[in-house]
Amino acid sequence: MHIKRSEELYSKAINLLPGGVDSPVRAFKSVGGIPLFMKEGKGSVLIDEDGNSFIDYCMSWGPMILGHGDRDVIDAVRETALHGTSFGTAHRFEVELAELVISMVPSIEKVRFVCSGTEATMSAIRLARGFTGREKFVKLDGCYHGHADFLLVAAGSGLADSGIPDSAGVTTGNAKDTLVVPYNDIDSLERIFEKEGKDIAALIMEPVPCNYGLIKPKEGYLHRVRDLCTQYGVILIFDEVITGFRLARGGAQEYYGVRPDLTTLGKIIGGGLPVGAYGGRKDIMSKIAPEGPVYQAGTLAGNPLAMAAGLASLKKILSPGFHESLKKKTETLAERIKPALGKFSKVHFDFIESIFCFYFTDKKTITSVNDVRACDMKLFAKFHNAMLKRGIYLSPSGYEVGFFSSAHSDEDIDKTAAAIYESLEEIF
Ligand SMILES: *Cc1c(COP(=O)(O)O)cnc(C)c1O
Repeated sequence: MHIKRSEELYSKAINLLPGGVDSPVRAFKSVGGIPLFMKEGKGSVLIDEDGNSFIDYCMSWGPMILGHGDRDVIDAVRETALHGTSFGTAHRFEVELAELVISMVPSIEKVRFVCSGTEATMSAIRLARGFTGREKFVKLDGCYHGHADFLLVAAGSGLADSGIPDSAGVTTGNAKDTLVVPYNDIDSLERIFEKEGKDIAALIMEPVPCNYGLIKPKEGYLHRVRDLCTQYGVILIFDEVITGFRLARGGAQEYYGVRPDLTTLGKIIGGGLPVGAYGGRKDIMSKIAPEGPVYQAGTLAGNPLAMAAGLASLKKILSPGFHESLKKKTETLAERIKPALGKFSKVHFDFIESIFCFYFTDKKTITSVNDVRACDMKLFAKFHNAMLKRGIYLSPSGYEVGFFSSAHSDEDIDKTAAAIYESLEEIF
């Protein structure tokens, strides 16, 4: 594979941007080699500066559920841009997108738009603290909620990769109100609620963790979490930045039938533009300024371009059979590669709807962060390289998941299955 242009760009970038990138995992540190510089996305395919094309399963880390460069999204953005890119005022698209989000996500009665998932989780925690008058909150080990100081504790992939338990620059004061318990461990949660429940404002969690491999909830776990939060007056926040609109129209809360008090959204909701949102119970949301005393603002929040892209995306996701068809693609791939996976004991594949993950481990079920910690990330790096060379772009970290989009074709799945066969043969 020829990557001369990427090499040239990278050698410049490394002197201009920290690590040559604007977000750490993009730098390929955990899989080796240099990051490829992409110049075009078309449907399921990414094309780099040297003209190599790849079937993409990173999908911009989740947002591109319709594939790259979806016609309707592009048209909506172009049409909107002709009338101006930001007004800093109220406008029609905010209302339209809010209506749509509220109609899709079961627990959201009111919503506030922001510019990223990080902003959404940070604001949701502030709101829960403002609403309850309590200071502590619980997060679950391995769940990632963006890079706000007090959430950079036992977080996911980027941190797992660099082996930093926290981040430099996060003070102990910042982290001291963050209580951490393992995901899928209801006893630990019960113990911490018994001990500190009256001081705990919120529990924030990815209902299905997707930033530390893919970990599925044990039977009944999410319902038990809901009950405990209700019992102790703790605000339950589902961080559905990945699972929102992907596991189902209404996200994980619809999929599992569990209603959080607040929900954070990002990624898909912006159709590839920078958008985040948080929403939930009306009585809680009414505490946000200007209705209430909890301050939160944004110069470009809810700007027309981002709202238009979100609207165009969500409308397409509502088309009949959308999620069934996505799931079928993942199932087809899983079925196709079963014989290959059966042949090698040290690799495991799992998926939920259109989210999948490869684990290089002897274990055949993954239920905890410790299971993911035990995976052989050096083997993943070899696998990643073997796949890349065969024209398949996986996220460049073994802690990341893969995503199908509606643009992935049967032919893509055939090619991908063949590449997986060959790559596993090569690395084992
Ligand atoms: C990506 C992600 C975030 C952070 O969103 P940004 O837009 O990158 O700030 C938060 N929570 C989860 C679950 C995510 O996957």
